[in-house]
Amino acid sequence: ETKVNVVGAGLAGSEAAWQIAKANIPVRLFEMRPVKNTPAHHTDKFAELVCSNSLRSNALSNAVGVLKEEMRKLDSVIIQSADDCAVPAGGALAVDRHEFANLVTERVKNHPLVEVIAEEVTEIPEGPTVIASGPLTSEALSKQLKELTGEEYLYFYDAAAPIIEVESIDREKVYLKSRYDKGDAAYLNCPMNEEEFDRFYEALISAETVPLKEFEKEIFFEGCMPIEVLAKRGKKTLLFGPMKPVGLEDPKTGKRPYAVVQLRQDNQSGTLYNIVGFQTHLKWGPQKEVLQLIPGLEQAEIVRYGVMHRNTFINSPKFLLPTYQYKGREDLFFAGQITGVEGYVESAASGLLAGMNAVRYVTGREQIVLPPETILGSMANYITTANEKNFQPMNANFGLLPPIEPRIKNKKERYEQLATRALDTIQNFSKRL
Ligand code: FAD
Repeated sequence: ETKVNVVGAGLAGSEAAWQIAKANIPVRLFEMRPVKNTPAHHTDKFAELVCSNSLRSNALSNAVGVLKEEMRKLDSVIIQSADDCAVPAGGALAVDRHEFANLVTERVKNHPLVEVIAEEVTEIPEGPTVIASGPLTSEALSKQLKELTGEEYLYFYDAAAPIIEVESIDREKVYLKSRYDKGDAAYLNCPMNEEEFDRFYEALISAETVPLKEFEKEIFFEGCMPIEVLAKRGKKTLLFGPMKPVGLEDPKTGKRPYAVVQLRQDNQSGTLYNIVGFQTHLKWGPQKEVLQLIPGLEQAEIVRYGVMHRNTFINSPKFLLPTYQYKGREDLFFAGQITGVEGYVESAASGLLAGMNAVRYVTGREQIVLPPETILGSMANYITTANEKNFQPMNANFGLLPPIEPRIKNKKERYEQLATRALDTIQNFSKRL
């Protein structure tokens, strides 16, 4: 009898194990806690929430709310358990974290087809396997993964710049151009005069940051400085660094601006742009205020804030298929934060899909690729088609979905229609499963 190995009983691994077991396939679920702990977990329970007790928005006007609804339709144990122990949190789905972890642990552990093995996995298992060992994957397993992917394709932190929905950029103020007009005009440039720069600079150096953690020394050491740290070295560091204007004369005036912020296309369909060189440690509220001082970004819809985290993840665009399958080994799947999805719900969602596909693999059925109109499908699509060269983790957001044509200007209306389309699509799809 074929069993599927699942490594890690976190958000993704618990969901994957559940999906596999409920399809009548036996699971061997490996979890190293409490034998070996991670730097962030405190208990031996499955699906422990290491930080916030909120699974973010529950509303259909928000992509992560739509994602939850898609997961409900596919019988997610994580969302079901969260719904069962929700605490009042306005439009968000927040939970009693102990009750939540207890529920997930009981449900998964008590499934007759789940065998729990409390040990650290130190080698990638043979046979059908889902690796869901998370952002704090143990050292021994990280070493194995490094061997699998090659050293340069396994990362230990994100140093991510903010990502913006293209529809929210004021196209009157920005212009398309590459530095010195080399190659195709690829960047959107936000020009600043001296006064605008000074205002931005003052806001940037005085904005509140997240306190530094030990691992950040290692990031700085690798030359990946947060923009606010660079800024504190003086205005020139920015003007000769990430905000350098040379070769970026404004085509409308022919003049060189005092400073320029460059935006680079982030996904294949061009609905998202990242801010070049703006990895940052600013808190999200102040981060938004500072970014909205950039000409053209006054109304910017930030779909992913800049962060600097400890995080283990692989270069998914290089290694994974949108089925969460490893390209070099068809019985090996990855799920959770290690694939470059970001967040509790996103991690569980990838576990759901990886679990379903592991089942299909062992039962000899075709792999599922969910349509990109769904949030589930759009996440899988993003992590497997993003630019390999500067791949960084991603949250669920509406900017990942193919736009509705003709374009809907009103944001609320646009999101409503995207949500309806996503849920209709998943409904039709699940009927065919
Ligand atoms: P995890 O939930 O971490 O599960 C991985 C499991 O694998 C763990 O139980 C671990 O013990 C086990 N494991 C690791 N190595 C091995 C091994 N070799 N053998 C056996 N078992 C192993 N996201 C949010 O949405 N909100 C937040 O507030 C938030 N805060 C975060 C704070 C920190 C410090 C970190 C690191 C991440 C945070 N995240 C947050 C991001 C992410 O959503 C969570 O980390 C989430 O738990 C990821 O789910 P996962 O299933 O990929 O990993």
